[in-house]
Amino acid sequence: MQRNKSDSLHKEALNHLVGGVNSPVRAFKSVHGNPIYFEKASGATVTDVDGNNLVDFVQSWGPLIHGHSHPEIIDMVSQKMQNGTSFGAPHIGEIELAKRVKKRFSHMDKVRFVSSGTEAVMSAVRLARGYTGRDYLVKFEGCYHGHVDSLMVNSGSGLATFGIASSPGIPKDTVATTLVAPLDDIEAVEYLFSQHGEDIAAVVIEPLPANNGLLVQSHEFLSKLRSLCDRYGSLLIFDEVISGFRFKQGSFGSISGVTPDITALGKVIGGGLPVGAYGARSEIMERLSPLGPVYQAGTLSGNPLAMAAGIKTLDLLDEDAYDRLEQLGELLQESVEPILEKHGFPMRLVRMGSLFWFSPGNNHPPSRADLIPSNAGTLYSDLHKALLEKGYMLAPSAYEIGFIATVHEEKHILGMVEALDEVLDTLEW
Ligand SMILES: *Cc1c(COP(=O)(O)O)cnc(C)c1O
Repeated sequence: MQRNKSDSLHKEALNHLVGGVNSPVRAFKSVHGNPIYFEKASGATVTDVDGNNLVDFVQSWGPLIHGHSHPEIIDMVSQKMQNGTSFGAPHIGEIELAKRVKKRFSHMDKVRFVSSGTEAVMSAVRLARGYTGRDYLVKFEGCYHGHVDSLMVNSGSGLATFGIASSPGIPKDTVATTLVAPLDDIEAVEYLFSQHGEDIAAVVIEPLPANNGLLVQSHEFLSKLRSLCDRYGSLLIFDEVISGFRFKQGSFGSISGVTPDITALGKVIGGGLPVGAYGARSEIMERLSPLGPVYQAGTLSGNPLAMAAGIKTLDLLDEDAYDRLEQLGELLQESVEPILEKHGFPMRLVRMGSLFWFSPGNNHPPSRADLIPSNAGTLYSDLHKALLEKGYMLAPSAYEIGFIATVHEEKHILGMVEALDEVLDTLEW
């Protein structure tokens, strides 16, 4: 596959944009290649500037649950655009999208729209701190919540520790009140509460962690987090920026039977335009400005084009759409497992609905970040490159998951599995 134009654009971009990209994961750094420049995209397929067609299992990293340039979404946005691109004033689209969100997230009485997932989580955290009058946060190793200062922390070991900033530029004081625990380890969280319980404003978690592989958490773990929060008067924040709207039940919270206090949303809610949201019961939300003292604002929040894309995206997500996503997911699972086994390739597929991850190792899928084998990156980078040559695009990192959209067809799934079969014939590991 020739990628001369992509390569030369990338070279030019390096003079103007940091690393040639506006978001680090796009740089293909961990799979040892140059990024691919897209020309256009439709449905399951993207066309790059060199004219190559690729079947896309990245789908803009999650938002495009109906694939690229879905005609009904494009129509709706184009129509709305004739009336103006930004109002800076209320409009009916905000009410319409809020109603649709509340239908799926029944713990929300009120919703606030913002423009990204990062902003949603950052604002949810500020609200939780303002509501409780406390400063401490508990977060989990391997969960990504956007580039929010107070949540950009790792724990050095597998033990629950104070956070160390994982980026220069974040003052020590900013993360001094962030406590980090391993996922799926309730004792570590109980310990943190025993030390700091009265000061903990919120526990922040992706209930379905999907940014460091797909680390499925048990109902038991999530429900114990709920009880701990209740016992100490802390709030439970679910970051469902990836998992929200991916399931018929609406949220992963509903699937697990655990209700958070605040949920943060992003990605699918904007159907490819910049939207984030957070919501909770009235008592909490009414602490927000203009009703309460916790300040949060946005020039482009509730943007009419973004609301329109979100409304159409959610309307297209009927029962049939979810059944289809599940069927496609099952097809992937059933067809890929025998191939991995046949070749003795040390990876297995972890899947929840339309989200999937090639997880390294042969054991039980990991529920914690530190259980992911350290050769994950090497194994994956060869696989990624070879599949790309055959026209199938997975995320350019071993720790990023794959996304199935309602517009994927059986032939895309089976084609990728067949390509994988051929690739594994030639790879060594
Ligand atoms: C993508 C993501 C974010 C950040 O969203 P942006 O729109 O990239 O700012 C936050 N939390 C989770 C779980 C995400 O997957």
